[in-house]
Amino acid sequence: WAKVDGKNRWACYDPERNAREIARITLSAAMPAALERGEFYVEYQPIVRLSDGALLGAEALVRWAHPEFGRLGPDRFIGLAEETGLIVPLGRWVLATACAQAAEWAAHAARTGGPQPSISVNLAARQLVEPGLVDDVDQILRAVGLPPASLQLELTESAIMGTTGEPLGALHKLVDLGIRIAIDDFGTGYSNLAYLRHLPVHALKIAGSFVEGLRADEPDSVDAQIVRALVSLAHTLKLDVVAEGVETRDQADRLTALGCDSAQGWLYAKPGPPEEINRWMDQH
Ligand code: C2E
Ligand code: MG
Ligand code: MG
Ligand code: MG
Repeated sequence: WAKVDGKNRWACYDPERNAREIARITLSAAMPAALERGEFYVEYQPIVRLSDGALLGAEALVRWAHPEFGRLGPDRFIGLAEETGLIVPLGRWVLATACAQAAEWAAHAARTGGPQPSISVNLAARQLVEPGLVDDVDQILRAVGLPPASLQLELTESAIMGTTGEPLGALHKLVDLGIRIAIDDFGTGYSNLAYLRHLPVHALKIAGSFVEGLRADEPDSVDAQIVRALVSLAHTLKLDVVAEGVETRDQADRLTALGCDSAQGWLYAKPGPPEEINRWMDQH
């Protein structure tokens, strides 16, 4: 215990908490130079159609190859990047990288005659309030020659639900360009269903936490009933449903039975380098 300012106020000195705070600040401060040096990279995870396992698209997931701490997942740094605003240039870089990659897949599909996978990119709430977003997206698509319909932007439920005014205008402009919007981690936030009806949205992604509880021997578990309700809600609103975090065949079968359209998860593939999507395109 230490006396803070000579008055009757005391602060608890917790060395572990202190170390975590220092690590946070260190990471946060290192991010701009890391972006300059090219320490961030993107992995891609297939999104497949449940009925036949066909490749529909891929989600871009950012990682940081930190010179000292090794590979860091987005849960370690996206929140920090949102706090400092670095998410704006970092998010723009992810978007440009992923769209360039998707344009390459489109060219590959044109050569081989296969279907062209779409690309899903996560968008932070902070990016949606940035005035330059719509122009950035438009410019990136033109620069790499990717049709807007091949791009899906994912916003979490909490990011999209509070959206009004200019950011909502930006969302409508993105949709006017021909881009698709998905609500990520659906079911974990506080959705205003009346409001959802009026949002320009094309797909719901059911959070992995609901998928986790699906079992073949418990067809009417609470999780199964929640997923059934979410699928029904989505279809009523004419939205596609993607299930996240599908790890077992059992879960995939349950999801198919519950009417879910598509899925993503370790059962099909972990996030990996872009070449793995090329292999998927050639094999399936
Ligand atoms: P998300 O968008 O919901 O992405 C799905 C997460 O589930 C990813 O975690 C993915 O690796 C993980 N996952 C995929 N299949 C399975 C599975 O079968 N089981 C389990 N347990 N997990 C699975 P990841 O890559 O750690 O990303 C975490 C979150 O970070 C993402 O959640 C997204 O919200 C955020 N994120 C990732 N990349 C970006 C980005 O470029 N920009 C922004 N703003 N956020 C990003
Ligand atoms: Mg996502
Ligand atoms: Mg998600
Ligand atoms: Mg998530």
